[in-house]
Amino acid sequence: MDLGLSEDQLSIRAALRELARTRIAPRAREVDETGAFPWDYVELFRGHDVFAIPFPAEHGGLGGDALTLALAVEELARVDTTASLILAVQALGSYPITLAGSAEQRRRLLPDLASGARLAAYALSEPGAGSDPAGMETRAERRDDGYVITGTKTWISGGGVADTITVFAKTDPGAGASGVSAFVLEDARSAPGLSASTIHGKLGIRGSNTAELRFEGVAVPEANRLGAEGEGLRIALRVLDRSRPGIAAQAVGIAQGALDCAVDYARERRQFGRPIAEFQAIQFMLADMDAQIQAARAVTHLACRMIDAGADGTTRVAAIAKLVASDTAMRVTTDAVQVLGGYGYVSDFPVERMMRDAKITQIYEGTNQIQRLVIARALLGERGAGGRSSS
Ligand SMILES: Cc1cc2nc3c(=O)[nH]c(=O)nc-3n(C[C@H](O)[C@H](O)[C@H](O)COP(=O)(O)OP(=O)(O)OC[C@H]3O[C@@H](n4cnc5c(N)ncnc54)[C@H](O)[C@@H]3O)c2cc1C
Repeated sequence: MDLGLSEDQLSIRAALRELARTRIAPRAREVDETGAFPWDYVELFRGHDVFAIPFPAEHGGLGGDALTLALAVEELARVDTTASLILAVQALGSYPITLAGSAEQRRRLLPDLASGARLAAYALSEPGAGSDPAGMETRAERRDDGYVITGTKTWISGGGVADTITVFAKTDPGAGASGVSAFVLEDARSAPGLSASTIHGKLGIRGSNTAELRFEGVAVPEANRLGAEGEGLRIALRVLDRSRPGIAAQAVGIAQGALDCAVDYARERRQFGRPIAEFQAIQFMLADMDAQIQAARAVTHLACRMIDAGADGTTRVAAIAKLVASDTAMRVTTDAVQVLGGYGYVSDFPVERMMRDAKITQIYEGTNQIQRLVIARALLGERGAGGRSSS
């Protein structure tokens, strides 16, 4: 299904598929079992220009189009969700700068992120503010030469390993959603007043670093505020519109990896004197898995193409892509475990890891309940305003 992919996109996908097969797949189980952040993946990505994919060419990237990133993320997730998340988080943490930074900020901050010399993170969620980020309590108080940030962010992917963290904080606590501003914290790992503690015991994506970040009077210069004061939440949501198709692609990759494994297994495993692939019950399960993956990939690519074309209505379609693809990943990985029977339930085969990994795609970057709210709001808003609902 390569219709409409450019030569560059096809060659990046082929390169990532090979890298995933030869360098990531053999490590995936160990990364899951130890839960240690895989710095070797970071080195691999640095060495093969993988981090450059989500960045514009003028800042050292490979172009930064959403579709190419989705192709790359899918190939990585097909063998190891954690690997795909390292790339997706580099995009997520950098998009605030790409989308809302001034020319000077982009010139100064993006090249080291595109090369992977610095890792990025995106710090929006708090212990008391997840689905409702306007309820955040982190404050940024003005000082002569900038701001001082105080508060706690949690669940931050890459938060304990990132050098450059986009953090959202209230500059005007009385103003609700319009009181939030966005800041870039550089040299985060050595910033005075910032401490990170790793969150352990995750169901899946165990190799991914997930951290709670405590800001105790962390200084950020005014030159590192993105946009105007009060624009922070709008920036955060624009970033999510842009990044959700990447999570959809991750979900498609997880589902495809599970189907690959289930098909191979069904051909090999014999019961009642024949391969289980000859039983129609198994065939139908595999067919349903394939059909759902194709549909999820199609809507994911649609969302990416709309973003890349600068089309209207991307908020809604990005949310649809994430909703459809993540629910697909959960169903398909669960069915893959079923196809493998008892062997699917243990870590000798990757499907049980994939089933555990799939769950997070229904939760982060907005739960699927929130995606439904976003879709419904776009739909009813369009109709309420007297316009056509877009196709
Ligand atoms: C492993 C991991 C990595 C993450 N990485 C990041 C990151 O890098 N950066 C970051 O900022 N955040 C990150 N998050 C946070 C993630 O985005 C939040 O967990 C998510 O948005 C949900 O917030 P919550 O956990 O506080 O759940 P809550 O908001 O408390 O929701 C609890 C339940 O209520 C439902 N709910 C809430 N409000 C509504 C409503 N209005 N209508 C219907 N249902 C509703 C939710 O869908 C959910 O089922 C990560 C989370 C995890 C687990």
